[in-house]
Amino acid sequence: MLTQNQIDGVIAFHGHHCPGLTFGMKVGDWVLNEFGHAPDEEIVAVVETDMCAVDAIQYLVGCTFGKGNLVFLDYGKNAYSFFRRSDGKSCRLVTRGGLLSDLREQQEKLDANDIAGREQIRQQMIDRIFQADFGEIFSICSVRVSVPETARIHASKRCDSCGELVMATRLLNDPVLTGGKNLCIPCRTVYRE
Ligand SMILES: [Zn+2]
Ligand SMILES: [Zn+2]
Repeated sequence: MLTQNQIDGVIAFHGHHCPGLTFGMKVGDWVLNEFGHAPDEEIVAVVETDMCAVDAIQYLVGCTFGKGNLVFLDYGKNAYSFFRRSDGKSCRLVTRGGLLSDLREQQEKLDANDIAGREQIRQQMIDRIFQADFGEIFSICSVRVSVPETARIHASKRCDSCGELVMATRLLNDPVLTGGKNLCIPCRTVYRE
């Protein structure tokens, strides 16, 4: 169970309270119990969405973009994988769906100007997610990919087109594709020579 302090912290970090964030809190709570916290890079999260829930995971579990232990795959799925480096433990959580179907239907029928009605349904959604059993919301499956590499610091080089410094591994130098120049990703996509 998350403490009120943790819940308040997540909401302050995200900027508002919403059903998506509450889903993320359920994930974070479960991961803290099953995997522990990641003050450094011990735990890696691979998230398949960039919606509200991910902020709760970053705040609670300590998997963040800046540390390199949060990997975003733009698949548009409410699916979250976790890896623990110390013992290789891993799992993937996928939303079962359907938990809020009736409330979403009610929400769609409301007049756009019915602020109070919308707020009431939003609160009902949040309460229902908080109260639901974890297994009712997510199915837990095994992960097929291997644990992502530890974040490494790479030297920067200048792109020969825009002149900006770029992590060396993101530059491409190819006799045909870039005409032998070091090109960054955006410069490559507009390269027409
Ligand atoms: Zn939100
Ligand atoms: Zn460039």
